[in-house]
Amino acid sequence: MTHRVLVIEDEEAYRETLKYVLTNEGFDVQVAANGAAGVDAFRDFHPDVVLLDLMLPRMSGTEVLRRIRLGSDVPVIMVTAKDEQHHKIAGLELGADDYVTKPYAARELIARIRAVLRRSAVTHEEALDEREPVETAHGITLNPERLTMERDGKVVPLPPKEFALLLLLMQNRGRVLTRETIIARVWGEDYVGDTKTLDVHMKRLRSRIEDVPAEPRLLVTVRSVGYTMEDEGHG
Ligand code: CA
Repeated sequence: MTHRVLVIEDEEAYRETLKYVLTNEGFDVQVAANGAAGVDAFRDFHPDVVLLDLMLPRMSGTEVLRRIRLGSDVPVIMVTAKDEQHHKIAGLELGADDYVTKPYAARELIARIRAVLRRSAVTHEEALDEREPVETAHGITLNPERLTMERDGKVVPLPPKEFALLLLLMQNRGRVLTRETIIARVWGEDYVGDTKTLDVHMKRLRSRIEDVPAEPRLLVTVRSVGYTMEDEGHG
């Protein structure tokens, strides 16, 4: 099966090189030279993975990502310059799957594209497997079929990775899960991205379910090990 890759990149040299290299690798490639064109191309092309430069004319990469995430869980690999740390964090918070820093080697990028494609295939299969019972604890009910969280009668849709993370912790409440275990289960065994991604997602979950997110009582950090969800009656 041919995977479609959308490259949103304003620097012509990078754009043309990527198009050439990725086409040679057997991908179906479309390119866009600015943010607005990237959003249009995303709608028309239905890519399987997006390579998104963050510094773009006519709409920033983070805004492009925000718009993509309004309706899609497509894997997005951000491309950043070395001095764009704050953009990188913003991108991870908006739901980017991975990032590379310029200048990068084409081989590395291709490996990352293949890794996010594998992970999204696995996640999709797992999502199909897990169309079963809802999980309830601490007054929170998760519905794997709809990717929703219900609490106090309010139904909140969750981004897929946040949902998977919360489900994993709820299913294992009272047990400490190491960072490695969580990353492997939620992002896949071959995850090569920044482990900060886990903390970013945890922060977002806490802001949704903790009364005081800075002093979590349900989603507890176990220092230098990982995280745990308190078992009921102790939380
Ligand atoms: Ca750029």
